[in-house]
Amino acid sequence: MIPAHNIYIHVPFCMSKCNYCAFFSRACPTPDWDTYANEIISEIKQWEKILGKINVPTVFFGGGTPSLMPVNIFDKIMSQLHSCFTIQNKCEITLESNPGTINENKLDDFLRIGVNRISVGVQSLRNEVLQFLGRQHSVNDAIKLIDACMQRGISVSADFIYGIPGDTTNTVAVLCKQINSMGLQHCSMYELTIEPNTPFGKMNLDMPTNDEMADMYTAIGQTLNLPRYEVSNYAIHGAECRHNQNIWDGAPYIGLGRGAAGRILIDDQWYEQMGNNELFKKIDNNTRATERIITGLRQVRGVQIDDMTRRVINTDFVKQNPELLRITSDNRIAATERGMLVLDDLIMNLIR
Ligand code: SF4
Repeated sequence: MIPAHNIYIHVPFCMSKCNYCAFFSRACPTPDWDTYANEIISEIKQWEKILGKINVPTVFFGGGTPSLMPVNIFDKIMSQLHSCFTIQNKCEITLESNPGTINENKLDDFLRIGVNRISVGVQSLRNEVLQFLGRQHSVNDAIKLIDACMQRGISVSADFIYGIPGDTTNTVAVLCKQINSMGLQHCSMYELTIEPNTPFGKMNLDMPTNDEMADMYTAIGQTLNLPRYEVSNYAIHGAECRHNQNIWDGAPYIGLGRGAAGRILIDDQWYEQMGNNELFKKIDNNTRATERIITGLRQVRGVQIDDMTRRVINTDFVKQNPELLRITSDNRIAATERGMLVLDDLIMNLIR
C-alpha cells in the first residue's frame, strides 16, 4: 500500500530577480502559462500511474512567484490534482504570494478554488531596504495583502529577511515589534546569506559578522511574540505550516515542476526524485534516516526516534551532551536553545 504523499509545485517565474536570490526562478512576468500548466498536468498524470490515487494532506505552491499565475492556470492544475488523487478534506493548500502580483479579486478567486493559506514575501518593513533588496513592491503593498488575507479569515504567514548590511540587534528588535503589532499568527525570519552569482554576490557588501548574526537571532527569539517552532519559523500553536512540518518530519512528498525535489515511498523503498524524470533513484534507509535527522532537528520539537532513525543516531553523543540535546516526552531528540545555535556541528556529531 502506498502512503499519503504531500505535494510541492514549483512555479519558477518572477516579475524580476531580487538582488539576493539564488532560487530556481527567472525574471519572466508573462511566461507561456499554458505550456507550464501542461507540463505540471502531465507530471501529475504520471505520478498517478506510478502511485495510484494516493491521499494528499498538503499542497504547496512555491517559487518563484506562484501568485503571478493566472487563476485559470491554477484552476487547471487543481482540477487535475483532484481528478488524479484524493485531496483530503482538510488539505492545507498554500500559495506563496508576492505583494503587487495579486489584488483582492485575484485573492478571492484563488481562495474559491481551494487555497487556504497564503505566505506573503514581505522581507522588510522599510521601503529603502526593499529597494536595496531589489523587491518590486512597497511596504504598503505588503500590509494591504496581509490585511486582505486576515479579513478573509485564512491562514497567513509573512517572510522577513534580517542581517542586512546596517542591521543590528536594535533594528531587528524594532522589526520584530512591528511584526508583533501586525497580529500575524505565523512568520518566517530568514538570515540574509550572500550567494555567488547573484548581484549581492558581486557587491562586496559589509555584512554583519557571524557573532552579530547570532545576536540578532537571539534578539528575534526574545522579541517576537510568536514562539519559534523551527530554526527560521515562528507561529502560535496550531498555525504552523503543516506542509513543511510533514516534510521536516520525513513524510513522503512529490516535487512537481522543473527542479522540484521529492522523496517518494513505494513498498517501503524510498526514492529521491526531482522534477519530471530529471532524477528518480533509490535511496537506502540510512540515507533517508540521516535526512530526517537533518530536517527534524531544525524543529524545536526535534526528530522522532524510531527504528529508522535509531540506526544512525549516535546515542553516546546524546547522553554526553545534555546541554545541547534533550529527549522529549514523546520520544523525540530535540536541540536545546544552546544546541540550536550550533546546529550544523550538532548534526554532524549526532549522526554515526
Ligand atoms: S521573488 Fe522570491 S524567487 Fe523571485 S527573485 Fe525574488 S526572492 Fe527570488
